[in-house]
Amino acid sequence: MQLSCHCGQVQLTLATPPDTLTSCNCSICSRYAALWGYFDPKEISLNERSDSATAGYSHGDKYLLFYHCKTCGCVTHTLTTDKVSEPRIALNFRMAPQALRENIQIRHFDGADTWQYLD
Ligand SMILES: [Zn+2]
Repeated sequence: MQLSCHCGQVQLTLATPPDTLTSCNCSICSRYAALWGYFDPKEISLNERSDSATAGYSHGDKYLLFYHCKTCGCVTHTLTTDKVSEPRIALNFRMAPQALRENIQIRHFDGADTWQYLD
């Protein structure tokens, strides 16, 4: 199955959907309104239709880079930086077809405060 930004410059392909999606209330995730599905980066193939279709943004401790499409602005995924020993990619399932997203349980993570799941 495939996730895509609005203009199609950025496409992410995965074999198996995640068991859950995470809605986080931290300062950046709440602005993006993202729904994250987490994977080992080896499980995901990232295709950019042109060179450097994405731009990354990092803040705070810089453990994560948030990528968006430079053409249409959609936030597509995050990647851990070299500071993290176990690499992880998070795909923004807002880029997924609605029918796929509807079948996955959404969990709420309190990234703003306690760093615990609230449900
Ligand atoms: Zn795009």
